[in-house]
Amino acid sequence: MSNLGLYVHIPFCRQKCLYCDFTSYPGAEHLFIAYTTALCQQIADQGGMLCKPAVDTIYIGGGTPSLLPVHLIEQILSSIDDNFTIVSGAEISMEANPGTVNKDQLAALKIAGVNRLSFGVQSFNNSLLARLGRIHQAADALVAVECAFNAGFNNISIDLMYGLPGQTPDGFAWELEQAVALKINHISVYGLKLEEGTPLATAYDQGFIILPDEAADEAMYDLMTEFLPLQGLGRYEISNFARPGSECRHNLKYWRYQPYLGLGTAAHSFLNGERSAAVSGIKEYIDALSSGSSPVVMREKVSKAEAMAEYTFLALRTTYGLVFSDFARYFATDFCQHFRSILVSLQQQKLLDMNNERVWLTGRGMKFGNVVFSSFLPDG
Ligand code: SF4
Repeated sequence: MSNLGLYVHIPFCRQKCLYCDFTSYPGAEHLFIAYTTALCQQIADQGGMLCKPAVDTIYIGGGTPSLLPVHLIEQILSSIDDNFTIVSGAEISMEANPGTVNKDQLAALKIAGVNRLSFGVQSFNNSLLARLGRIHQAADALVAVECAFNAGFNNISIDLMYGLPGQTPDGFAWELEQAVALKINHISVYGLKLEEGTPLATAYDQGFIILPDEAADEAMYDLMTEFLPLQGLGRYEISNFARPGSECRHNLKYWRYQPYLGLGTAAHSFLNGERSAAVSGIKEYIDALSSGSSPVVMREKVSKAEAMAEYTFLALRTTYGLVFSDFARYFATDFCQHFRSILVSLQQQKLLDMNNERVWLTGRGMKFGNVVFSSFLPDG
């Protein structure tokens, strides 16, 4: 089995962004210590149950992990170190909001073992940031990245968004230039999705905001896929761009269908062919752990047909695509024979390309990834 990846969820945020439907809670600072204690209990339980397995990636995500005081992050990492075997050179990433970091904190995180930072910048335009309900301004992102470099981080990523209310292709082109000027080695770019029930979706439904039309949205997508590779940030996954060797190793585990263990509220795991998820409420999570119960509320075995579909569309998210011999090793099934008619149809639509060793999405396939992915589903 490959080394395990650990995902650690920190569900606290200073305020809820207007588009966000992640499991995150504002105004719950009073639960920082109790949550960390519960998390360390879960880490000890899982590490013991799995006999201290080797871990080569740890991803502390949220929420806003940078809201948690550094000594609590240290406590979490030291608990992982006590209960798992962190292999030498492991990637230890942490998400940070540019409005919640300072130079001493970042220096302390580096000493604690964090070696990769992912800043939720989202935009360099203050009006757009305000429209999203973000707590930070563009200047905070510049300062945060500079402090990270000064603290000794050389593996820094930022998240950007496009398709925002009022955003134009020219404006987005300028934002991409700002991102590249930071001289970081990884950028993730996501199109805005209006999630049902969020204030932004309601504002859209009521006509208070206007989103870029389809042509503008497509122009922004094309800008990112053309501009970033020209700046040395190669596209390695639909939404992710990196300098060579700086691809996020933790996220690659998801796309390569490798095992990961989620710890914390709402965290998902994929282990031994089984998916599971923990309860999403902070209090429920703390109560479960403090009373000696499991916080896991969902467990399901993945059928072979589902697993083959998932494996396929996760692999196809990467620009390298799916390697036939890897698929055959995993499922004892010939990929091309099993999916023959789907492959023929997708190739005719110029969504896929393949050679003797692997299959990958064309540029058009990347753009219409959902069409491709759904066609591999058992009932697709
Ligand atoms: S900082 Fe991230 S997790 Fe928190 S509310 Fe905003 S988008 Fe959601």
